[in-house]
Amino acid sequence: MSGGADGANGAAGDDGRPTLAVWKFASCDGCQLSLLDCEEELLMLAGAVRIAHFTEMSRASTPGPYDVSLVEGSITTEADAERVREVRAMSRRLVTIGACATAGGIQALRNFAGEGEYAGMVYAHPEYIAALETSTPISAHVEVDFELQGCPIDRHQLLEVLTATLAGRRPVIPGHSVCWQCKGRGTVCVLVAKGTACLGPVTRSGCGALCPAVGRGCFGCFGPAETANTASLAAQLRHQGMAPLELSRFFSTFNAAAPAFRDEAVAEGAPVRVALGATRRNRPWGAQ
Ligand code: SF4
Ligand code: SF4
Ligand code: SF4
Repeated sequence: MSGGADGANGAAGDDGRPTLAVWKFASCDGCQLSLLDCEEELLMLAGAVRIAHFTEMSRASTPGPYDVSLVEGSITTEADAERVREVRAMSRRLVTIGACATAGGIQALRNFAGEGEYAGMVYAHPEYIAALETSTPISAHVEVDFELQGCPIDRHQLLEVLTATLAGRRPVIPGHSVCWQCKGRGTVCVLVAKGTACLGPVTRSGCGALCPAVGRGCFGCFGPAETANTASLAAQLRHQGMAPLELSRFFSTFNAAAPAFRDEAVAEGAPVRVALGATRRNRPWGAQ
């Protein structure tokens, strides 16, 4: 792989293998662990790329530029806002992984609260916390080449993204909903059969319909599906007796700041203090 127009020059490692870097921002490390969880595939991956920076795996670090950067976590401090710009400048391709990096994560609940409200609940001395009032996705700060959703991400989807990126093609990640996967595995619909609240109709597939398969409703950890019709699902859930506050909270979890879920939560009465939709920066796959 050779250099690109984003400022990163040719990044292939000393032995000719493309280089991979993994970065952490505000997050729990679960999505990075999905990469380590690849087990057998990880050995093949390590043969195909040189893992140049991945502090979850090794203290050894090789300076950039890098062919591919995987970025986990959201931006919650000024220092991280500056650091992610440096990561962008060093990376030919930048792929964000997980709900934190693609939608601000569970920590973006503070975008809906009063200033310092959550810090005051969690920390005995919130005056020592130096953080931004909001948690924002990476795409609110720098251009992103591809966003992989999930909390955590699915390792098979991660391998597809890495394989496609190294092969120079666009990753094939379905944009359809969890309902498709329910139908595919023959799972009885808990929303229809039991009246259980389920976000599956508006949530992106990737988990294999894990929760409905064990009789639970989906709570949206993979974030919004493409063309998610949240208003229609909200109307159905209201019809089944869910109150507006409950409905608002239902959409406000790991992907609370993802525009489709955020807008529905706000429509049901949640306050909001940031407008992420206006600041997203995603690059067309062909642009380098
Ligand atoms: S998306 Fe979920 S699993 Fe991944 S880093 Fe954030 S909190 Fe952890
Ligand atoms: S259980 Fe949920 S995800 Fe599965 S088909 Fe029903 S509504 Fe869709
Ligand atoms: S919450 Fe929804 S997207 Fe997440 S694992 Fe369960 S069914 Fe899948």
